[in-house]
Amino acid sequence: MALSHLLLYTLFIFSIIISIQSSSSSSEDTPITRFQQYLRFITTHPNPNYTAPISFLLNQAQTIGLTTRTIEIVSNKPILLLTWLGSNPNIPSILFNSHLDSVPAESDKWIHPPFSAHRTINGNIYARGAQDDKCIGVQYLEAIRNLKSRGFVPLRTIHISYVPEEEIGGFDGMMKFADSSEFRDLNLGFAMDEGQANPGDEFRVFYADRTPWELVIKAKGAPGHGAKLYDNSAMENLMKSVELISKFRETQFDFVKAGRFANSEVISVNPVYLKGGTVTSSGFVMNMQPSEAEAGYDLRLPPMTDPDVMRKRIDEEWAPSIRNMTYTVKEKGMLRDHLGRPLMTPTNDSNPWWSIFKQAVEATGAKLAKPEILASTTDSRFIRNLGIPVLGFSPMSNTPILLHDHNEFLEDTVFMKGIEVYESVISALSSFEGVSGQVI
Ligand SMILES: [Zn+2]
Repeated sequence: MALSHLLLYTLFIFSIIISIQSSSSSSEDTPITRFQQYLRFITTHPNPNYTAPISFLLNQAQTIGLTTRTIEIVSNKPILLLTWLGSNPNIPSILFNSHLDSVPAESDKWIHPPFSAHRTINGNIYARGAQDDKCIGVQYLEAIRNLKSRGFVPLRTIHISYVPEEEIGGFDGMMKFADSSEFRDLNLGFAMDEGQANPGDEFRVFYADRTPWELVIKAKGAPGHGAKLYDNSAMENLMKSVELISKFRETQFDFVKAGRFANSEVISVNPVYLKGGTVTSSGFVMNMQPSEAEAGYDLRLPPMTDPDVMRKRIDEEWAPSIRNMTYTVKEKGMLRDHLGRPLMTPTNDSNPWWSIFKQAVEATGAKLAKPEILASTTDSRFIRNLGIPVLGFSPMSNTPILLHDHNEFLEDTVFMKGIEVYESVISALSSFEGVSGQVI
């Protein structure tokens, strides 16, 4: 009897606590709670839910007073486009992009469930996507909400895009969108996309991505007895290439170790698999030299790389036909834009957008780190390919880099500072009148 009373009492207390918690979180409607709401949508691959976050964003956009359009180039992979018309819609517009999808999360390895958007007493908001990149998706909207409430009127039209599929290469997302007439009709002069966090107190900014190439080299040779010494076996041919590639890798890495270049400024080439040998049910046959062997490499090329020189190196040194080698290279992106220029956005006075962006960030009291090349890839490469300047930027300073990691979080104060930074950036960029005699 006493035990059941105690149980009932405990349940009663629990229900009160739960109702207080849920009423306080549901009654509040602030930038932070809207960020938490957006974080709670399960947008992870392989089956991201795009419908729910898009209807949330549509709702927000309507409240703020933005025009909305959903574009479905690939079915069930919608793109959401929000627009704030400028007072001069004839001059090139500006775009703020983010992706809707996220990488998966292993819930059991997180201290708070990855889709709870739990906010700790210190203000850390835990969620998959908190850094990559749902923060910017909400910050763009909150910045515009504030600008509108202050009566700000942009000169240039401002677009915000939410695209699917970035985490799996962007091929059914931004790649197809950038190639569409809808995108061309936006008449973009400049765009911004996601960046990365910085544990230090400066904001990082990215002017290029590295381009991934997938290289597979294959060697053939006469098979023979394990005891026989002879030239041009498949294994020997492959090992010669492996040595040459390792040397190249070492040279590139030495530049980084010597402090001459950043990691993302050199060509990385890393072995990802080796395949060879003659296999039976009891394992590898040890007294046979096989007739085939192969190796796979992950290459990442900064935009300064001459793709022709790289292709020649692979063809003549790493997998030459004179050593019975063949190869395949999957170039998972481009190194040159449609006019043949290296795929990077200038971060000097030659690019007026850069100067405006930098001043706008600094006007909020924040500091910008030295512009960087991103070691991996983002959707911005598809926009740069069209010759449109793009900067990668997610305003997260004093924040550990946790994208794709367990326990991804963003502190509420960092999130709020980001809104202030975007207010400054969006108002400055959209007020840019252009340079006389040039279409910018
Ligand atoms: Zn991302």
